[in-house]
Amino acid sequence: MHRKEVFESLKKNPEISVLIVGAGINGIGAFRDLALNGVDVLLVDRADFCSGASSASSHMAHGGVRYLENGEFRLVREAVQERNRLIRNASHIVRPLPTTIPIFKYFSGLLNAPLKFLGFLDKPSERGSVIIKLGLMMYDAYTGRQRAVPRHRFLSRSTSLKRWRGLNPQIVNTATYYDGLISNPERLALELILDAEAENPAARALNYVSMVSGEKDSVLLRDELTDETCEVRPKLLINAAGAWIDFANHQLGLSTRYIGGTKGSHLVLDHPELRAAIGDNEFFFENRDGRIVLIFPLHDRVLVGTSDIKIDNPDEARCTEEEVDYFIGMIGRVFPAIKVTREQIVFRFAGVRPLGSSSAKNTGQYSRDHSIEVLSGDWTTLAFPVYSLVGGKWTSFRAFAEQVTDKALAFLGRARQKSTRELPIGGGRGFSNDVNEQKRQIDGLAAWTGLDRSHLQMLYSRYGSRSETVASFIKRAADEALKSLPDHTRREIAFLALHEKVCHLDDLILRRTMLAMLGRLTRERIEELAEVLGDSLSWDGAQKKAEAARARRLLAERHGVHF
Ligand SMILES: Cc1cc2nc3c(=O)[nH]c(=O)nc-3n(C[C@H](O)[C@H](O)[C@H](O)COP(=O)(O)OP(=O)(O)OC[C@H]3O[C@@H](n4cnc5c(N)ncnc54)[C@H](O)[C@@H]3O)c2cc1C
Repeated sequence: MHRKEVFESLKKNPEISVLIVGAGINGIGAFRDLALNGVDVLLVDRADFCSGASSASSHMAHGGVRYLENGEFRLVREAVQERNRLIRNASHIVRPLPTTIPIFKYFSGLLNAPLKFLGFLDKPSERGSVIIKLGLMMYDAYTGRQRAVPRHRFLSRSTSLKRWRGLNPQIVNTATYYDGLISNPERLALELILDAEAENPAARALNYVSMVSGEKDSVLLRDELTDETCEVRPKLLINAAGAWIDFANHQLGLSTRYIGGTKGSHLVLDHPELRAAIGDNEFFFENRDGRIVLIFPLHDRVLVGTSDIKIDNPDEARCTEEEVDYFIGMIGRVFPAIKVTREQIVFRFAGVRPLGSSSAKNTGQYSRDHSIEVLSGDWTTLAFPVYSLVGGKWTSFRAFAEQVTDKALAFLGRARQKSTRELPIGGGRGFSNDVNEQKRQIDGLAAWTGLDRSHLQMLYSRYGSRSETVASFIKRAADEALKSLPDHTRREIAFLALHEKVCHLDDLILRRTMLAMLGRLTRERIEELAEVLGDSLSWDGAQKKAEAARARRLLAERHGVHF
């Protein structure tokens, strides 16, 4: 259904079982699980899907080896299992990532865990080889028999320096363990929504629809594109507004202080020398004061992050010049011979982790675990309970969603019918990383659609097995490559416009594609994309211009990209 029709149908029939406010990965995960279990569920986000913290992650599917030191064993075990599931179920987007720790000391950090446990350690300190070895042995143990990724390995100083040219010769050795790389989280999130809607027509997801207020048994929603409003009457409300959870509860007349958010920023660098130096490895490194730095391969670019800074207003999260200085300095600690300058930054982003409020003195010690906070009965004047989804990690979204769904199903008096544990996601269904199998699938598609193999190969790398749907749409009308961006065609853009809930040009360049994040845009490309997208969405000339201007403004204000 088109968003207008959904809005109209809600006006006629405002009764819904579950309303989810916030379409970050936590809201989306719960939406998919509830939809699969036959629940009529409405998901709304005041902006685009996956445009909050979920679009600002470090792109890692990881158990969080360093959380072992905080004693968060349950969290690590769950996240490692979920990492492995993502590698299996979404193999078109998530793949094993060798992660290398350059180590500068042998014995440092040995007392971190016991001191933290006793409450004597406020600031983490650098870890040496011995403590890292112990941590990685435990981490491997959590992977158990699943073996989705290989075990860790230690390399001597001389082997490490031969293997990674430019690595700091002050290291004593390196350790390499495996996590997962989520190459395109925004696409994965969207595919979860599309899967849910395909499975259950009573599951509906609307971007650019805000929750404005709630009273007694009803909630007021506003379409941010038209200013139209409508009231819905849910039996249960799931507040998945991330760092904005307390603000959203306030709109419902509830006073909560669940969130103690911390800001994290990243840079994307166009730096072929650094990209060649890291190869397919992430470098994961702790500064002398225990702050984390990661340098890793994002397609042909290098992603560098991240900070962990307490912040009160999530709308103000931006990557600052001090953070840029810090990141550049830290790359210098790992690869001192490689010069990095601001000119090589093609994109910046920042987001706020919706962590539970914490009394820990150091933000690195705030728990990354998730919880469902329930407000009902005497705590509220609302006729429905409110579940607030606090914390969580991209990696473990499925497990969190399962817990939320079980709770919601119990409340609704329904039984679970389906599990998401082994369920492939979107273009991961039938996808293969085996080159021969890929060739076979692409040959089949070429014979069926008449599109050429190099075009299909590109679609396969972007959409996995969903490329079949994209290609069959493309072949139904004449197509041509964009003039300013020849690896995209008009029909591919039309497909995204019509089938992937694009409302603004920035949805296309920031989240349906990786054009902005990978620094592939120019003023000319933005204008052509506005033109082509606008043709599919029936924009007139003025709207195309306005969309191009809006996209440029957002890129400049939030991502440091100026044309
Ligand atoms: C810098 C950083 C790095 C990270 N790295 C990793 C990593 O590598 N691996 C990992 O597993 N996890 C990582 N995380 C954690 C993970 O990204 C977050 O925990 C997760 O994305 C939180 O998702 P969410 O759905 O709760 O919040 P969000 O994604 O922020 O979604 C909340 C949504 O609610 C919407 N909203 C707010 N108010 C309203 C309203 N009134 N009406 C309608 N909608 C509303 C917002 O627009 C937003 O889209 C990282 C997080 C950050 C910030």
